[in-house]
Amino acid sequence: MATLQNILNTSGFKIGVELVSSRGTITQEKNQKAIHFGEQLCEQESVDWISITDNAGGYPAISPTDIGKFLQSKGKEIIIHLTCKDYNRNGLEAKAWELSSDGFSNILAITGDYPATGIKGIAKPVFDIDSIGLLYSLKQLNNGLDIGKKKEIRLNKTNFYLGAVVSNFKKNENELIPQYLKLLKKIEMGANFIINQVGYDAAKMSELIQFQKYKNLEHIHMIGNVFMLSNFTVNLFHKNRIPGVILTKPLQEKCLQEIQSNDRGKSFFLELAAKMLAIYKGLGYKGGYLGGVHNIEDYKRIMKIFASYGNDDWKEFVLELQYKQSNEFFMFEKDAVTGLTSSTLNPILLEKGKRTEHVNMNYTISKRFHKILFTKSKGLYNTGKNLCKKSNSKLNAPKWLYALEQTGKKFLFDCQDCGDCSLQEIAYLCPESQCAKNQRNGPCGGTLNTKCEVKDIDCIWARAYDRTKYNGDIWKLLEHVPVIQNHDLEGTSSWGNFWLEKDHCTN
Ligand code: SF4
Repeated sequence: MATLQNILNTSGFKIGVELVSSRGTITQEKNQKAIHFGEQLCEQESVDWISITDNAGGYPAISPTDIGKFLQSKGKEIIIHLTCKDYNRNGLEAKAWELSSDGFSNILAITGDYPATGIKGIAKPVFDIDSIGLLYSLKQLNNGLDIGKKKEIRLNKTNFYLGAVVSNFKKNENELIPQYLKLLKKIEMGANFIINQVGYDAAKMSELIQFQKYKNLEHIHMIGNVFMLSNFTVNLFHKNRIPGVILTKPLQEKCLQEIQSNDRGKSFFLELAAKMLAIYKGLGYKGGYLGGVHNIEDYKRIMKIFASYGNDDWKEFVLELQYKQSNEFFMFEKDAVTGLTSSTLNPILLEKGKRTEHVNMNYTISKRFHKILFTKSKGLYNTGKNLCKKSNSKLNAPKWLYALEQTGKKFLFDCQDCGDCSLQEIAYLCPESQCAKNQRNGPCGGTLNTKCEVKDIDCIWARAYDRTKYNGDIWKLLEHVPVIQNHDLEGTSSWGNFWLEKDHCTN
């Protein structure tokens, strides 16, 4: 059987279909339905792979492998989704060993939605590492993880083929560009294929391909996400109940109008999905990823409509699928005739940023202070290093210095004393106190109009972007990754840990 890697490396537009695992045992009706649908999909020549979700929407569900095991021998490749919300790095590593041992080799590495309600309330989120940390870790397993302390002891290599997601339907520049910068890091960390977030705007769909070309990433397989809408999901998406998914008012109104028809909008939804596949194909995506489809009849109808289109029909569909948000920012200039983005960079991107509320005195002073204290062999670097070396304290710094650090940082950044400081990488914003998911390698995909998916605050990465833009340094944001926080340093001096080369900046 051809591997997913082989499949994506051969010519032609490929099709994957999403199966959603549900709450309950494998005998639970919804899980049985998913398996049955999966088995029927395996019989379809047009299906290239099946993807299975991991606690989708943050809700508990049976493990994707429990469903995947029933489909493994049926002749189709399986992608298992692996998210960081419910397991720490050790749990994720254990999951990875289990996947490899069970013969699953395709993983979609995702940070994940914030956990939703479980037994007796909302679950405590984990987010020990993020998608970047997960990709980094899986890459280590593929290289044969070295667990030796004094001499090299390598474990058997895994053979994971890795993918990641990008949330590209973002409204504002300070949300969109950090998403693209994070995408670059996901690729650097080993992602071979990229699936974008659900969205219904052809211009943004084309922008991702422009970005791919702009960054010479043609060797990466872009897969276009096509979510077949329904009466239920139109409202769910329009009310922003699924983080990162945008369904604008004009599209909602169009759908509501179609729902009045005799088939309750079914033909419209099927056709919309087929048209989106055609657009993705026409734009040069490697494949389409079909979600929201739950029975084989719907799948067959979509594929029949898709197959009926002529080579250039997608260009017309592009003009129909223009459901962008008001004042939406695009990285590339739009072409009014085609409805797509051109290859010309948006001049706003190249402008120096304005002094917004996020570019404040705290930032300017912190930046200067950091330079004096932490530039190797300059300023107070050697003094600090020598003081900490001599201290012999468990705090990794003299007590008075630790007290001074904590007093200042608590006041300025609401420091939580993690000991492995990321302030310098997030334009002097603390991920522990100001990011619900403690994201240290770029934003998660959940923001809505710059606001955090969880709290009513601006995303720290959008604020950090404003700050770096003000300095004319936007491409430097996220240069630092991967940051994998060392929890062993909690309650110790982060200054001392930097000078003594114990924190993530050295490791
Ligand atoms: S990242 Fe850690 S050390 Fe730095 S300010 Fe936040 S809690 Fe404090």
